[in-house]
Amino acid sequence: VAKPHIVILGAGYGGIVTVKRIAKQLSTNDANITLISKHDYHYQTTWLHEPAAGTLHHDRTRMKIADLIPSHVQFIEDEVVEIHPKENKVSLKNNEQVTYDYLVTALGSVAETFGVEGVYEYAFNKWTLNGARELREHTEYMFAKYNNEQKEEYLTFVVAGAGFTGIEYIGELSERLPELCKEFDVPMNKVKMYVIEAAPTALPGFDPELVEYAMNLLENRGVEFKINMPISKVTEDGVILKDGTEIKAGTVIWATGVRGNPVIEKSGFENMRGRVKVTKDLRAPDYDNVFIIGDCSLVINEQTDRPYPPTAQIATQQAEVAARNLANLVKGRPLEEFQPDIKGTVASLGGKEAIGVIGDKKVFGFSANFMKKMIDNRSLWMIGGTGLVIKKGKNPF
Ligand code: FAD
Repeated sequence: VAKPHIVILGAGYGGIVTVKRIAKQLSTNDANITLISKHDYHYQTTWLHEPAAGTLHHDRTRMKIADLIPSHVQFIEDEVVEIHPKENKVSLKNNEQVTYDYLVTALGSVAETFGVEGVYEYAFNKWTLNGARELREHTEYMFAKYNNEQKEEYLTFVVAGAGFTGIEYIGELSERLPELCKEFDVPMNKVKMYVIEAAPTALPGFDPELVEYAMNLLENRGVEFKINMPISKVTEDGVILKDGTEIKAGTVIWATGVRGNPVIEKSGFENMRGRVKVTKDLRAPDYDNVFIIGDCSLVINEQTDRPYPPTAQIATQQAEVAARNLANLVKGRPLEEFQPDIKGTVASLGGKEAIGVIGDKKVFGFSANFMKKMIDNRSLWMIGGTGLVIKKGKNPF
């Protein structure tokens, strides 16, 4: 009998953890395994606010895929253009089509614009390693340009969205800008930082006491919040708010949430904002041999009847179940159901500051920062063991 071919798309949290786990559960006699991803490295998406602001070198957040995956897993560095689920094939940008027996799609997400004009043209919206490099370079360039042209808008930074990503990013930026002021001989009072949020509160869904702690801390670093204020347009010069106010800014950063990778929509899967509402065992409703996990998938929280927000925590837990279910399918065993186990959420605020909830306990400041660094180290440990933690890990103190 021919060995089944298992293909995994995307080498983020979902993809890498699936590959590591499946390679342990199935031997080379059981299946051929192929991983396909855009670059020859994995990056820690949850760390990207740091290299984007310039507080951590981008190499600390990435690792060679060849160093992470077992040698019997084939790796193809290429961009997935489309999945043809009826034909069990995947089209790639530079290589020939790949045929699969079982597929795991873990291609992550892109920015959600909510129909606001100008986001893709004028705002930094790519939460990828290359997106982070571009934003860091641009930030420094704005200081250099200001010194020559003296236009104050070059030193104005607008973050759209006070959710998790927007708050973590402004936390880093508010730590980094005083350093850049020194480097470029610019007084700090020339710099303006805005966080603009359409919802009636920053960090929607977070405990109000934690939200207040975060906002006070960031305001003390010079951040101005505009809450309950949708952005109606992003332009070459900055943003226009719903009340008609224009904020001129040399840098607009988009962080209002995500939609699933456009490959999902292009491939004809039934979806909501690029995310597929998967079955309990994590498969696409119409295709028994296609698993969809991470930011491309949608799982309903039965207690609230709303989708779980897409997180690395869920992507990783789904990867464990998808790997076991792949082995179950190959070996003809019944599949198991995915049940998220939310351990908590911690948001960094830059420097040694953070806020979060662990179990049902609120954490602030030092203890939250300690937890955040431990979570970051644990995610390294999951994909590369103690060696990777020693090489790239974070000091929790
Ligand atoms: P990803 O980890 O994003 O991986 C997608 C992979 O697919 C990448 O390797 C990419 O290169 C590859 N890829 C994309 N398109 C293609 C293509 N066409 N062809 C081939 N390869 C492709 N979550 C938490 O749980 N906790 C946090 O503290 C947290 N903080 C965050 C902070 C920031 C700044 C951001 C941006 C996100 C944060 N998140 C956090 C969310 C978390 O990062 C995502 O939910 C998680 O990365 C989703 O995992 P994934 O495997 O679906 O996608």
